[in-house]
Amino acid sequence: MPLLNTATPIKLRLNRDLARTIKRGHPWVYAEALRDLPKAPAGSPAILLDNRKGQPVAVGMYDPNSPLAFRVCDTDGETNLDDRWAEHRLRKAYELRRTLFDGQTTGYRFVNGEGDSTPGLVIDRYGDIAVLKLDGPGPCGFWNPVGVAEWLAKHASITTVFERRKERGREGRVLIGDEPNEPVSFLERGLKFTADVVHGQKTGFFLDQRDNRHVIRSLAQGRSVVNLFSYTGGFSIAAGIGGATQVTTVDLAQPAVTTAHDHWILNGLDPSVHEPIAADAFQFLTQAGSRKRRWEITIVDPPSFAPNQESVARATAAYQSLISGGARITAGGGLLAAASCSSHIDLEMFLKICEEGVSEARRRATVLSVQGQPPDHPSPLALPEFRYLKFVLLRLD
Ligand code: SAH
Repeated sequence: MPLLNTATPIKLRLNRDLARTIKRGHPWVYAEALRDLPKAPAGSPAILLDNRKGQPVAVGMYDPNSPLAFRVCDTDGETNLDDRWAEHRLRKAYELRRTLFDGQTTGYRFVNGEGDSTPGLVIDRYGDIAVLKLDGPGPCGFWNPVGVAEWLAKHASITTVFERRKERGREGRVLIGDEPNEPVSFLERGLKFTADVVHGQKTGFFLDQRDNRHVIRSLAQGRSVVNLFSYTGGFSIAAGIGGATQVTTVDLAQPAVTTAHDHWILNGLDPSVHEPIAADAFQFLTQAGSRKRRWEITIVDPPSFAPNQESVARATAAYQSLISGGARITAGGGLLAAASCSSHIDLEMFLKICEEGVSEARRRATVLSVQGQPPDHPSPLALPEFRYLKFVLLRLD
């Protein structure tokens, strides 16, 4: 099966001088920057021509119904978007991961869309199972998921590929192999985890926090830890293995908290040291604060409160209240780790929110480190929106 849509590319013309920006690596062209929007199926291959002489600037995929009408696949406008091109991209993505990981990490992002010059195509790997996600109708029409799955089976020792597809009203489908009926086991820096690739959040695990979990692991020795918005306990297990004296794990979803405790036991940790709590984190903070409970490390990793520009003000207030609540339950001299995965709140804004939140709790803090997403989640230098993850580690006075 082909890896992508092999229709004859249609021609699109810019209506403004964006050629330089695109050549510098910005991979998105919005509908208003195109002279016209010819009728074509979403995901049609296209050649982008400049606004002056009509010279080719790039090749990519076109979606006439999306505000993001053109996504760049290659800035050589003469390139044929064929299987050779696609294979080259997949091979390059795989090479990077092979240099990054040894047998101690078998769960990682194999392909990260624009960050691997494969627009809209995301693949996470858990051992020999892969989960594929296409970001909207354009990528769905451009990439051939079965072709990609066959490539993974042939070149990357993958036995099963499952496609997650929420936007079409169904959770997903198997592309090759057997439907994964059970959570899949994998390693993250030697820690044992499982991912429910069919029903879990994202593709089953938040692989993007790997390095940040490692920071917590390296600081946990002899300290008590509370992990808010824990999902399946990634940070909790890292803290436990790092030598935490007590770990409290909080998530709204009971199944996530149950899995977190299973993960705790799976890693040979003492169950009496782990306190799993299914609760709303905001309420938990209020109660723990009024009972004057304190932990030496507090982790706050909420879901994206700002999925779009309109929700930024409300999201800012929510983050601030969490950080202030988190600061209140952190012991003097303790650490507060705050994360945000919203691309609409940039690092500078997030640091400001941290400052406001800490000061609302009448505390002061120093910044120990500022981190982001790990190298298996690369982003084009020219596309800051793609660097969505912020992780700020504070020491409180
Ligand atoms: N830290 C996690 C990822 C967090 S994702 C990890 O390392 O894997 C965000 C989590 O917040 C989800 O598991 C979701 O169930 C949970 N969540 C959403 N709203 C919540 C709330 N109000 N209180 C507690 N948890 C919440």
